[in-house]
Amino acid sequence: MFLVGLTGGIASGKSTVAAVLRELGCAVVDADVIARQVVQPGFLAHQRIVCAFGPEILMESGEINREALGSIVFSQPEKRQLLNSFTHPEIQKEMLKQTLKYFVLGYRYVILDIPLLFETNTLTRFMKHTVLVYCDPPTQLSRLMRRNGLTQAEAEARIAAQLPLDQKAKMAGHIIDNSGSEEATRSQVLKLHSLLEDSLDFIWVRLVAATAVVGLGGLVYFLLRHLVS
Ligand code: ADP
Repeated sequence: MFLVGLTGGIASGKSTVAAVLRELGCAVVDADVIARQVVQPGFLAHQRIVCAFGPEILMESGEINREALGSIVFSQPEKRQLLNSFTHPEIQKEMLKQTLKYFVLGYRYVILDIPLLFETNTLTRFMKHTVLVYCDPPTQLSRLMRRNGLTQAEAEARIAAQLPLDQKAKMAGHIIDNSGSEEATRSQVLKLHSLLEDSLDFIWVRLVAATAVVGLGGLVYFLLRHLVS
């Protein structure tokens, strides 16, 4: 099995591309969904956040008020770091769990949908391929304003908080340019899908796993024979 990192910028079209890949039958692990899951009541990250930021960060339902927490960490980098130290390990554990599930199910590759793949940069070394969903800056701005109902200044501030797409493009192994129509994007996704389907990179991991299983089986057999005799 091998891993594919899918990333983009805000409103560049990553969700649109991920939806096409899912429709084609790919295994996609969504870091955003997991990030929301691990801060739900009952999870370790939730407990730690409440301990560090106080119960005033909670809504009546016991869930974390993401907007309130967001505005605290937006202006205070050390608090953002603290929050990340609670959430990132839990997110990565859950991503690993879901990836292993797909491995056991026999998927040859898993796509990890990670919005800040290049910003955090801790996971890129595990990716066989990295894919950036690109969109030209004016189109990105207008799609973000339309989707989120933002003013131009608000949308520009959100885009400015991320690494520019042109910079991410230099770091990506593959680029899907989503500046045009959805049809044009779809045909690029189909090409990427064929490339991933035709790749034989999964064989190495299968071979190593099979060798490990056979080796372990042999060891157990050897030990049993010695214990019995
Ligand atoms: P992201 O997941 O990167 O934030 P989305 O996939 O949600 O971005 O796309 C942002 C917005 O732009 C959405 O409203 C989506 O419907 C729209 N959109 C995405 N791709 C296209 C396209 N090729 N043409 C027109 N609108 C698009």
